[in-house]
Amino acid sequence: MEILNEHILNILHQLPANVTLVAVTKTRPVEVLQQAYDLGLRDFGENRVQEMIEKQPVLPADIRWHQIGHLQTNKVKYIAPFVHLVHSVDSLRLLEEINRQALKNNRTINCLLQIYIATEESKFGLDESELNGILENELCKSLTNIRICGLMGMASFSDDLALVRSEFAGLKQLFVRIKKKFFADSPEFSILSTGMSGDYLIAIEEGSTMVRIGTALFGER
Ligand SMILES: *Cc1c(COP(=O)(O)O)cnc(C)c1O
Repeated sequence: MEILNEHILNILHQLPANVTLVAVTKTRPVEVLQQAYDLGLRDFGENRVQEMIEKQPVLPADIRWHQIGHLQTNKVKYIAPFVHLVHSVDSLRLLEEINRQALKNNRTINCLLQIYIATEESKFGLDESELNGILENELCKSLTNIRICGLMGMASFSDDLALVRSEFAGLKQLFVRIKKKFFADSPEFSILSTGMSGDYLIAIEEGSTMVRIGTALFGER
């Protein structure tokens, strides 16, 4: 208990005031989430829809739930009543479904578009032209119950810190271009979700406003 306390407080103290800590709680039992809550954390990130919908009803109602893992369109309906922010939007089809389920629940759902920035092969994330394609699409502009709040990216799993830094820096530059082009009058487009346990300090130096940290808070999974 003491250990968890200390890790969380150390990390919180390192973060600039403009950076939000999302505690990544995948695979952790609800008791651990409750402890983190009692220490003051309110933002929790889960990868799997099933896990999130099991934990959400038994924990305090003011927790902000973040969907950080890949989201299948057929699962959106389960989290739509309560999810605070979906970090992993990687298609227009998924945005449409989030909008449809948000409408059904009479709410607006915050979304980030996930950008592929790593050198490794990965199935998920958009490149710049795909991102522009979505934002230019009239259908996207007509979605009334989603709020696009920024971009998310995951750097390479690499010891090459210069590479990791350049990936984060590149995403920040893309964020600035996209903001200028599509969201100049939209203050809500303000979130750059980058940085995990191994690289969050670099991410913050390169403009992150939201870090997603699991292992460094709660130990190895
Ligand atoms: C698991 C996960 C994290 C946190 O990873 P740690 O290395 O444990 O901090 C962050 N983002 C995503 C998308 C994840 O799946």
